[in-house]
Amino acid sequence: MSARILVVDDVPANVKILEAKLKASYFTVLSATNGYEALEAAASGSPDLILLDIMMPEMDGFECCRRLKADPALAHIPVVMVTALDHAEARVRGLEAGADDFLTKPPNDLALFARVRSLVRVKMMIDELRARDDTFRDMDAHSGSGSAMPELAPKGRVMVVDSLASRAKMIERVLTEQLPVEVTTASTREQALDAAAKSEIDLFIVSNRIENYDGLRLCSELRAHPNARHSALVVVVEDGAFETIASALDLGANDYLMRPIDENELAARARTQLLRKNYADCLRADLDSSVKMAVTDGLTGLYNRRYAEQHLTRQLQNTTTPTSVALLDLDHFKLINDTYGHPVGDDVLRQVADRMREGVRSVDLVSRYGGEEFLVVMPGTDADEAVQVAERLRQTISSAPIVRLDGSESIPRVTASLGVATHTGPDGSVTEIIERADRALYQAKHDGRNQVLQAGNTPTEIVEVA
Ligand SMILES: [Mg+2]
Repeated sequence: MSARILVVDDVPANVKILEAKLKASYFTVLSATNGYEALEAAASGSPDLILLDIMMPEMDGFECCRRLKADPALAHIPVVMVTALDHAEARVRGLEAGADDFLTKPPNDLALFARVRSLVRVKMMIDELRARDDTFRDMDAHSGSGSAMPELAPKGRVMVVDSLASRAKMIERVLTEQLPVEVTTASTREQALDAAAKSEIDLFIVSNRIENYDGLRLCSELRAHPNARHSALVVVVEDGAFETIASALDLGANDYLMRPIDENELAARARTQLLRKNYADCLRADLDSSVKMAVTDGLTGLYNRRYAEQHLTRQLQNTTTPTSVALLDLDHFKLINDTYGHPVGDDVLRQVADRMREGVRSVDLVSRYGGEEFLVVMPGTDADEAVQVAERLRQTISSAPIVRLDGSESIPRVTASLGVATHTGPDGSVTEIIERADRALYQAKHDGRNQVLQAGNTPTEIVEVA
């Protein structure tokens, strides 16, 4: 794993030591010797992780961390405080300032590298989600929450796994007192996996001591479980068990707690994990809706033109079966808008879309192609079949008056004209087949509307449909 690490310490020798260790493991190292330089380097050097000294003149590590976390462009970069202060109070202060972890000076190598790897992994996952989100923003597909600051979900679900009920109860009490969470407990591996299968848990806190089972193995099983894949995972170990911690982090745990558990540290770490989990969930949900919005038409819920053309391109690459399209245009739609107003016009478009969805076969794709124009892509369909589908659509659309959804008005009769074109053989072009369908459609309009015309095999030929 290669990543860029920013090392911040006011004592140059300390920077050198960490730099040497990290470079030996092929990390790229940036450095800063005070808080201001650190903020600048974070902004200009886009590090994947910041190792931050606490005791520095002018701006100490706590303040520097607070400023990093208050900047939306930098808030997602994980921060590890490196300090000689090894007591719970300093840890809690750091976590409250937004730090992701603590290492004591000089850092134990196992703890350092396990921590770096695990935080960089999370950072890269978030980066990937942010990048995809940005792509959609560039496409102007939506205006989602994007890089907004992480927030806590209103009701986080936490599960504590420990075979000793009193230890589990203590964690449950602290978390429910300090965070907006629902906590459940499990005393065996089976109970934990059962719960994971039933609902999505935001945070698992797993003891390394579960009766007859290895807690670390449970961590890796949870990580591989489809429901728990994105859950946050904190492992609880004995004081000083650095090798266990290193293995746990490599197996996919996000963080650890040492016994005896400090109550404030427990709450602060759980809070950090729940924030990250919710942030990633929001990015994922954003992405899902972006994907949906990028391919659908907002008014009718049909596929949009871009998606339909993409789909048609793929169909035309299939040279073994014919592909047909029908281009449908509502007759005198401008008159509907002028007579009844645009809201009624929109209702008509929605209901025509519904009728089209019902009128086509399951293999056909219906899309809104332009204002009152629709494109139906019919894979594996020859000209005769395509004309039958188009004719059925024409009849379905004009079969009954269109009544406004609130029942207030009804438009007696809406009709449509359709042009059908079929492509067989290799090298079909989207432009060519749509042009032919468009010419047939134009002719159908010219010949009196409310009819289906089929484009012939030569570019200009139009065949009248009985
Ligand atoms: Mg210092």
